[in-house]
Amino acid sequence: MFKPQVVSADDEDICILIKVDNHSNNYICECGEAKRLSVKDCQNTKAIFISHTHIDHFANFDTILRHQIGTQKNVIIVGPMGIIDQVQNRIKSYCWNLIEEGAISYEIREIQEAGNYTSALLRPPLWLKEQVKEINSEVVFVENDFDVKCVILDHKTDSIAYLFKAFDRIKVELNEGFQGGKWVKKLITAYEEGLNDVLIEVEGMTYLSKDLFSMLSKTKGETLGIIMDHAASEANHDAILALFSECDQVYIECFYKDEDKDLAIKNHHSFATKSGEISKRCNIKCPVPVHFSRKYSDEDIVQLISQFNRARS
Ligand SMILES: [Zn+2]
Ligand SMILES: [Zn+2]
Repeated sequence: MFKPQVVSADDEDICILIKVDNHSNNYICECGEAKRLSVKDCQNTKAIFISHTHIDHFANFDTILRHQIGTQKNVIIVGPMGIIDQVQNRIKSYCWNLIEEGAISYEIREIQEAGNYTSALLRPPLWLKEQVKEINSEVVFVENDFDVKCVILDHKTDSIAYLFKAFDRIKVELNEGFQGGKWVKKLITAYEEGLNDVLIEVEGMTYLSKDLFSMLSKTKGETLGIIMDHAASEANHDAILALFSECDQVYIECFYKDEDKDLAIKNHHSFATKSGEISKRCNIKCPVPVHFSRKYSDEDIVQLISQFNRARS
């Protein structure tokens, strides 16, 4: 369902574009420089997810903004503490005397702590903070068929890691002799709520819901994780385990090779073996190491990826 794509080259900063089956909109994680991110990709983006605002994750925001003007969308930006001010300051550094009302607006969701974010609306031409609200919710973004939750990791600043999860689906296969009808909906509700003894009437016969559950089966929704800069600490790994265990796909920062472990510790980053190990502990089906230091050659990156793979095998 989720079709993520790293649109930044290895010598650029990180930017991941997520397309979703049967969605006309797409989603961007991280605003690093990325020449492969097209004008259309930006125009079709409904929400932007930012882990933290170090320049390599935020420098390309202006380009995205540039392409979104005139789309008349309300784009959601989710990010760490301080993101409302930071986006507002970036936007206000330009002159907006000719912009049309409604050309674009941003609803910014600033993660304060687990289960709580502040939301504010910015609109041209003044870009004031409007409709500022506190929201208590584990879910930071929701669409028709998926939602996004997050966890705050430590990178000497908050670094938000995001989990995209498609909703579970209930599949119905009617036994012979049963015809569809309103009762199916009632049965699905009972199944979802774990109620065994709801009376279900089917063509003059009354059944207990649990006796009909065999006609239903649950398909687990696909999951996609985006874990950016974080120290390879026990506390961060516990937080990653809690949210990303058994994930289908996870893009995880792997900024340093093992040889540069000291730099990783100094800069509160992870490194190849640690990112590989935590991917293994989480039992992630398809972990993808991303976001390598720009000082590395192609050969260094091949070594880094093999260190990552060794640690998770
Ligand atoms: Zn960083
Ligand atoms: Zn970074």
